[in-house]
Amino acid sequence: MLDVGRHPNVELLAYSEVEEVSGSVGCFKVKVRKKARYVDADKCTGCGACTEKCPTDVLDLYNEKHSTRKAIYSWFAQGIPSTHAIDTDHCRVFNGKKCGICQKKCEANAIDFEQKDEVLNLDIGAIITAVGYDVFDPVKIPEYRYRDLPNVVTAIEFERFLSASGPTHGHMDRPSDITVTKRIKELEKQETRSLRTLARFEDKNGKSSVDFFKEYEAKGSGGDDNLEQWAAKYKDHLALDKELTALKERAANFTTAKKLAFIQCVGSRDLRFYPFCSGFCCMHSIKEAIIAHEHDTETTSTIFGMDIRAVGKGFDEYKVRGNNNSNITYKRSRVAEIVGGPNDNPVLVYEDTQEQVVKREEFDMVVLATACAPTAGMHDLSEILGIEINRFGFFTTSREKPLDTSKEGIFVCGCAHSPMDIPESVAQASSAASRAVQAVTHENLLKVS
Ligand SMILES: Cc1cc2nc3c(=O)[nH]c(=O)nc-3n(C[C@H](O)[C@H](O)[C@H](O)COP(=O)(O)OP(=O)(O)OC[C@H]3O[C@@H](n4cnc5c(N)ncnc54)[C@H](O)[C@@H]3O)c2cc1C
Ligand code: SF4
Ligand code: SF4
Repeated sequence: MLDVGRHPNVELLAYSEVEEVSGSVGCFKVKVRKKARYVDADKCTGCGACTEKCPTDVLDLYNEKHSTRKAIYSWFAQGIPSTHAIDTDHCRVFNGKKCGICQKKCEANAIDFEQKDEVLNLDIGAIITAVGYDVFDPVKIPEYRYRDLPNVVTAIEFERFLSASGPTHGHMDRPSDITVTKRIKELEKQETRSLRTLARFEDKNGKSSVDFFKEYEAKGSGGDDNLEQWAAKYKDHLALDKELTALKERAANFTTAKKLAFIQCVGSRDLRFYPFCSGFCCMHSIKEAIIAHEHDTETTSTIFGMDIRAVGKGFDEYKVRGNNNSNITYKRSRVAEIVGGPNDNPVLVYEDTQEQVVKREEFDMVVLATACAPTAGMHDLSEILGIEINRFGFFTTSREKPLDTSKEGIFVCGCAHSPMDIPESVAQASSAASRAVQAVTHENLLKVS
């Protein structure tokens, strides 16, 4: 990606959308909307001074909502171009409030609240669409209780947990424990405020809240509003203290997730959703289990699947290595249901098809290998480009010309074509680029001149 950013023959139009395409191979007219970032990309040095003081926290989609970012942000640290953008849905200025802190903090003078979208009209010889995929939403399989059970996560969320730049800095903290830890922090802040309030009453009345409350319970306030307020604040304080003590007792036993389950084919090879194999999820589950074991050698992983599709050079050996060296067990089964267990542990109900017995097993965390689904914008884009979509929702190609879409001069590569891993997507991208070069040389090029 860095190479692309620096290449003299590549112009990157990031944060832009193709709105209209007309013409034909060799002379496409393409209308592109370059969206306003409200940050001048030529001036922005990517230093991040603007984000440091921005008062607005927003759930970070890059970290699958397990952390927050600011209203002025970059999608991720290594993004190209290394510039920022303002999220107008959340920025105070764009929501009628006073702020502008980022503008004051930016020494490069890059913040521009008046920036407008730019519309570019480009003459293009050939087009390659590489719009990738979306991950299947496991909420559609209610028996896996994805939303209800906090420690059931998707593989993409788990990927972020494993990452040193992720929400847990690479520690296998469980989402339920993270929520409790956050709640403890909130309650501790509230407790400090509550103690300050009680201290004011104590100073004014010359006695401790404990002594006052004993008297209040015995004799009441005698209609004194001030004493009624003190009693109410003290009751709130006791309730807060009770919750805080209980949560701290719970948190004392928290450890990282050590017993992991991976469920394969969530939405894939399933006639209710996507009948095809998503190709890469068996391997990414093995990879994630191996990395989790590298982080903590006490980690054990069970991978539940109909079969493990380790198709590719060296892939089966990788699978066997996972079993030999990284505490991974492969269990042939289809998980029927996940239910809640003690300590927020998900419990899997499954048939062990080798023993032909229905079993229940408790895990610290469950990872769902969700299907590779066509991206949400696929239909709109197919209309804009005037190309067909196949019955699975990916762009149509033919056996003879696997990278050519239904319109001459428009090519496809990667998961917009069909599910495939990164090496295959990269190889296809090179092939698609070669096809595009062929399309604009020869007789088609003559149309441009
Ligand atoms: C949890 C998980 C782990 C994985 N781990 C591995 C691994 O270790 N190794 C491996 O080989 N593969 C792995 N994969 C598979 C890998 O993600 C895919 O092979 C790869 O991302 C496919 O690349 P792509 O460029 O086709 O699509 P994408 O990576 O999806 O890229 C498509 C890009 O197009 C953009 N886009 C979409 N629509 C538009 C539009 N209309 N206009 C402009 N831009 C648009 C998207 O924002 C996106 O940036 C993993 C997948 C998952 C889910
Ligand atoms: S103006 Fe918007 S982006 Fe800038 S600091 Fe304020 S809230 Fe954040
Ligand atoms: S790669 Fe594995 S998990 Fe993914 S759909 Fe195919 S068989 Fe299922």
